Amino acid sequence: MSSRRLQQIIPSLATSDGAGVSLRRSLGQSQGARVDPFLMLDEFSSDDPDDYIAGFPSHPHRGFETVTYMLDGHMLHEDHLGNRGDLLPGGAQWMTAGRGIIHSEMPQQESGRMRGFQLWINLPAAEKMKPAAYRDIRPDEIPTAALAGGGEVRVIAGSIVVDGREVAGPVQGLSTEPLYIDVRLPAGGRFAQALPAGHSAFVYAYEGPLAIGPADEARPLSAQDAGVLSAGERVEIHAGDGPARFLLLAARPLGEPVAQHGPFVMNTREEIEQAIADYRANRLV
Ligand code: MN
Repeated sequence: MSSRRLQQIIPSLATSDGAGVSLRRSLGQSQGARVDPFLMLDEFSSDDPDDYIAGFPSHPHRGFETVTYMLDGHMLHEDHLGNRGDLLPGGAQWMTAGRGIIHSEMPQQESGRMRGFQLWINLPAAEKMKPAAYRDIRPDEIPTAALAGGGEVRVIAGSIVVDGREVAGPVQGLSTEPLYIDVRLPAGGRFAQALPAGHSAFVYAYEGPLAIGPADEARPLSAQDAGVLSAGERVEIHAGDGPARFLLLAARPLGEPVAQHGPFVMNTREEIEQAIADYRANRLV
């Protein structure tokens, strides 16, 4: 089986979004920093409430999915449909904006650490205008499997095989077939996983460094960098002298044009102008 290589590194940049939430953005910092169908990945990690407490007040989305995964702290979510959810540490929210959603995402902790990720996944043209939907995933709905050489993996979306046993995440059946896993390795640990050969894939090392590829030719990936993988049927990821934690994401690329204006992601400029006009006229949703 052909092994994937570390093909491109996208270092995360410190920035802020919402009402002043400090975060690190890897994918999505520029138009070239996308990995079809993945549009953006933000990591927020702070023990200073001033870095996050203003949160993300009411804002719209159209044309894609947002996935929030919390490691520490809470995130309160409310949307125009009257849905209200509290993301717990270790839990996730899978939100399909479709034709439109207006929501707020507000960290609920005033002390202690807030740490998590928001991933944006594009929708195919045929699904961009479908009704909005979202799913809150409790921490106990995300299966955790121990790795034979130490460490563990949590599966949020898609399925993997660990020691001959299938571990299926709670999110299945989407047209981009996303795999979203969170891996913890001990010092010197190794993680190997088969991936569909034609799917895009990247690794985000949130506690690194890592090395990616077969052991004799593995390339380093520093902490808080995203590493885009070449095509291939499997990936091998190694921890260094210390423990490591990373996200591994893979999905079927759409191969469609991307037109983005902030929180609207469509296929053409005209569709973006329509989204802006709809939002202004109060008919986005
Ligand atoms: Mn949002």
